[in-house]
Amino acid sequence: MDQNNIRNFCIISHIDHGKSTLADRFLELTKTVEKRKMKEQYLDQMELEREKGITIKLQPVRMEYEISNNKSQITNKSQISNSKDQNKLGFSARDLEFISSKYILNLIDTPGHVDFTYEVSRSLQAVEGAVLLVDATKGIQAQTLANLHLALEQNLVIIPAINKIDLDGARVDEVENEIRELFLSLGKEEYLAQEIFKISAKEGVGVEELLRAVIEKVPPPKGEDNRPLRALVFDSVYDSYKGVLAFVRIVDGEIKKGEQILLMASGARGEAIEAGIMKPNLAAAEKISAGEIGYIATGFKDVGQCRVGDTITSFNFFAKVGAASSSKVCALPGYKEPKPMIYASFYPANDKDFVILRDALSKLKLSDGALVFEPESSALGRGYKCGFLGMLHLEIISERLRREFDLNLVITTPSLTYKLIANHTGDETMIYSAHQMPEPHLIEKIEEMWAKLEIVSPSQYLGSVMELLGGTEGAYKDTRYLTAERLIVEHEAPLREIIVDFYDRLKSITSGYASMSYELLDWRPADLVRLDIMIANEKEEAFSKIVSRKRAEAEGRAMVEKLKEVIPPQMFAVAVQAAIGGKILARETISAFKKDVTGHLYGGDYSRKKKLLDKQKKGKKKMKAMGKINIPQEVFLAVLKK
Ligand code: GDP
Ligand code: MG
Repeated sequence: MDQNNIRNFCIISHIDHGKSTLADRFLELTKTVEKRKMKEQYLDQMELEREKGITIKLQPVRMEYEISNNKSQITNKSQISNSKDQNKLGFSARDLEFISSKYILNLIDTPGHVDFTYEVSRSLQAVEGAVLLVDATKGIQAQTLANLHLALEQNLVIIPAINKIDLDGARVDEVENEIRELFLSLGKEEYLAQEIFKISAKEGVGVEELLRAVIEKVPPPKGEDNRPLRALVFDSVYDSYKGVLAFVRIVDGEIKKGEQILLMASGARGEAIEAGIMKPNLAAAEKISAGEIGYIATGFKDVGQCRVGDTITSFNFFAKVGAASSSKVCALPGYKEPKPMIYASFYPANDKDFVILRDALSKLKLSDGALVFEPESSALGRGYKCGFLGMLHLEIISERLRREFDLNLVITTPSLTYKLIANHTGDETMIYSAHQMPEPHLIEKIEEMWAKLEIVSPSQYLGSVMELLGGTEGAYKDTRYLTAERLIVEHEAPLREIIVDFYDRLKSITSGYASMSYELLDWRPADLVRLDIMIANEKEEAFSKIVSRKRAEAEGRAMVEKLKEVIPPQMFAVAVQAAIGGKILARETISAFKKDVTGHLYGGDYSRKKKLLDKQKKGKKKMKAMGKINIPQEVFLAVLKK
């Protein structure tokens, strides 16, 4: 297909503004999916996505769309007046092509949640345009801004559209105003005169016009057919027969089944076992060429050989020309590798399931490069310390382990990653667990990741939002009005403060009306300490955690109180203490229970009773000297479980 008839685009928005529903309408309109097979949010194919009603994984689909040869269908005057060489009918060559052509439209549906911004940014590099969807009842929300920023960074053509105009609460004019104000504030005056489409993705209103606008406004790809192959890997999945399937945007050249391929970054060499397109189910094709989006089955057994962001090229070309002229093919700019930001330990509830857990994590890793894990053993048994992009990512992985592998898991409270700079040597190490933190005198300094928060909120909640932000160890930056009723608050804070439950708190103080997004800033010095818990004077490693020095005492107190509540009475009084480097911050005592060792004696001689009680006393003393108390696993669960 001529590249002039190809359009690659994606739909971006805040979560729930209707991307997947709009994609459904496009699939219907282009007859990509048969009517009888159509279901809501068709592209959300994972069971979990369907249940939660959210898109977790980006999903590409190729649609074919024919515009019938009927000039009356051209409604947009600007398209005609733009052309210089108009023919007698008043239409330019491109207009004629436009009114009588078949198009290939490659759409990538993207997730909207902050944890998956990484998925969005990958999709954006594979396309030339983006439909920016804004819910008419909610208006611009935090992810609308964040994703629009990403799209503009990639120089994509933006087609703004207001969705859900069928709803009673739709505020179409207001939202239109918000969008224009937004473009203005971003210095994108060229968008002020552009049409903002008004649609109902649910009812299909305005959808056809929007799809036509995609064809009209999004530029066709400009790759070179005759150059050596360059394909950008923007996603990958694993197939047990065909190995790693690389989802690619062919930038230059073409690829056919059987050709030898070379991954420019990993250096891995292999064969294209199959090449094809997503409709959205995989369909083998004779070849895929410049400008197209498709997949290459690589046969690789290890995702590391074919990382997302790598460039696939032709091995034979490289072999023929040699390294000397290989500069003719330069690798495409890749992606920043996502770094896990939070860690939590996963333990199988049944120790026997450890091996199943290991295999399950390896399987999930094949299609989720952001997941990392390593074995660990502790009071909870044998398990894995796993790293995630954020809380939703953690939740999704644990859900998938539960459903797809039937695993019953114990998951510990998540912790962040910190950078530790050692005294004297200046060595840097990354730590994500309290037991990795050395004694204070060995530490030169500790750094933690900061994030820039952007909160979009109705102005009446400004006070509560500021109060919430004031409670973090962060720094307030700015407040801007988007419109008279909506504002954007910018704030910087340690990631530790916002990643775990900040969003839930924000939602609850604003009755669900505020939304937020964040992006990572940089590593900054942090005043953190290791809080240890001592039970009967013994440090219990599993309870240690890294906390801010300012809050150490309060956290320590809360911990010992909680432990007092959950540890059952012991044979002797037991001290539960919270400490930093040996200094005790808080203490509770678990009282001894009195076991009735004399109960079976009734009546009779007191001296027999006394003898037994003395024996018990001695026994308790001995146990106390050994200092060992038995902490039941339920106690660990109660304290450590998320
Ligand atoms: P996404 O998260 O952006 O992919 O949003 P979805 O497509 O999953 O839609 C979120 C919710 O909004 C679903 O319940 C949809 O049925 C609903 N929705 C989407 N578009 C419309 C619309 O035009 N009108 C109405 N009334 N509801 C819509
Ligand atoms: Mg979706």
